[in-house]
Amino acid sequence: MPTPDAIIVGAGPAGLACAVTLRAAGLDVTVLEKASNVGSVWRRHYDRLHLHTDRGHSGLPGMAMPPTYPSYPSRAQMVAYLESYAARFDIRPVFNTEVATIGRDGARWRAEVGQGAIAAAVIVVATGVAGAPYRPSWPGQETYPEAIVHSSDYRNPAPYRAKRVLVVGFGNSGGEIALDLAEAGVDVALAVRGPVQVLPRDLLGFPILSWAILYRRLPARLVDRLNAPILRLAVGDIERLGLQRAARGPREMVEDDGRVPLIDIGTLAKIRDGAIAVRGGIERFADGGVVFSNGSSERFDAVILATGFRPDLRRLLPAVEGVFDANGMPRATGRPTGAPGLYFCGQITSPTGQLREIGIEALRIAESAKAYVKT
Ligand SMILES: Cc1cc2nc3c(=O)[nH]c(=O)nc-3n(C[C@H](O)[C@H](O)[C@H](O)COP(=O)(O)OP(=O)(O)OC[C@H]3O[C@@H](n4cnc5c(N)ncnc54)[C@H](O)[C@@H]3O)c2cc1C
Repeated sequence: MPTPDAIIVGAGPAGLACAVTLRAAGLDVTVLEKASNVGSVWRRHYDRLHLHTDRGHSGLPGMAMPPTYPSYPSRAQMVAYLESYAARFDIRPVFNTEVATIGRDGARWRAEVGQGAIAAAVIVVATGVAGAPYRPSWPGQETYPEAIVHSSDYRNPAPYRAKRVLVVGFGNSGGEIALDLAEAGVDVALAVRGPVQVLPRDLLGFPILSWAILYRRLPARLVDRLNAPILRLAVGDIERLGLQRAARGPREMVEDDGRVPLIDIGTLAKIRDGAIAVRGGIERFADGGVVFSNGSSERFDAVILATGFRPDLRRLLPAVEGVFDANGMPRATGRPTGAPGLYFCGQITSPTGQLREIGIEALRIAESAKAYVKT
């Protein structure tokens, strides 16, 4: 193994962006990636996925997305972009190399990998969330005879044709998977446990992200108040669709709860025309189906959990204290952590676009890491 200035764990957008910015800052970097290619998580996402952030705000440092791409690039275009990004900057990750744990080794950080270990003054954890799908459980679930799959294992409607499917969760994955199924003629219901927020993908001809960026320096509560009337007009009356509008506005929801509002690309229209049914939260499983919180029950042939991800990075860094919150998420991402030389990139949900935030963090990490290595 080489002895670089910096180790980067993960070759998704965050790892690649950090590799480029750290190298531009004059550091010698080694990228370790457990999969056999860059952007491995994007290769596995469901087929119909397109970015919900616009092309102009989704490129990584030093290379914009191609102008030939549509406003909202497809999953395949995202993969091609990551491949050409790595090629353009000659980033060559060490593939098929999973970091088991990271710990201190004197003044350096030591990453344990199958074949041994590698140490460096700086380590950037860019492992994303995809490795930790969150699968809640309910009473009676063990008696349910059909498949319960996580959204990260959903690809397309083909296995669900002629079935009744329940999609659990009203985030972007849940909304889009329900839409995908409804468009394919599958009988689909969405289990929505609590109040929600919905945003249009574009507002007054501009991507919703442009508005979020424009208002980013204003307090969340103020922005939500200012935007409420126009968003209500743009999105319509969601209460009539059986949904409950959250008291917190979309920006507060992201900042305070880390929950991303649904960016609607057609789900509401399908709810409106009855192709997607809305149900409440799940109380328990029974009789080959589900009992909802209002006491009603229905049979389903499959359940898809669009319930997000819950990584706990204390497993990767078991002996490192003071940098994680109670859930094992880093307290600081994209900036010094309190443990000298240790950085996280892209770990906190951003109201102004995760990919955009990754680029900003990568630039900040490079500046800080350079100063740290040179002292
Ligand atoms: C369905 C979906 C759609 C999204 N759409 C958008 C969007 O439109 N716009 C936007 O801004 N954001 C979007 N995001 C959020 C975010 O931008 C992406 O998840 C993005 O891929 C995050 O990049 P990352 O590099 O942090 O993580 P990942 O892309 O998950 O990459 C992490 C990499 O680390 C590797 N790895 C993990 N653990 C280890 C280990 N121990 N050792 C070695 N390698 C390891 C993984 O194999 C992976 O290649 C979306 C997220 C999801 C889930």
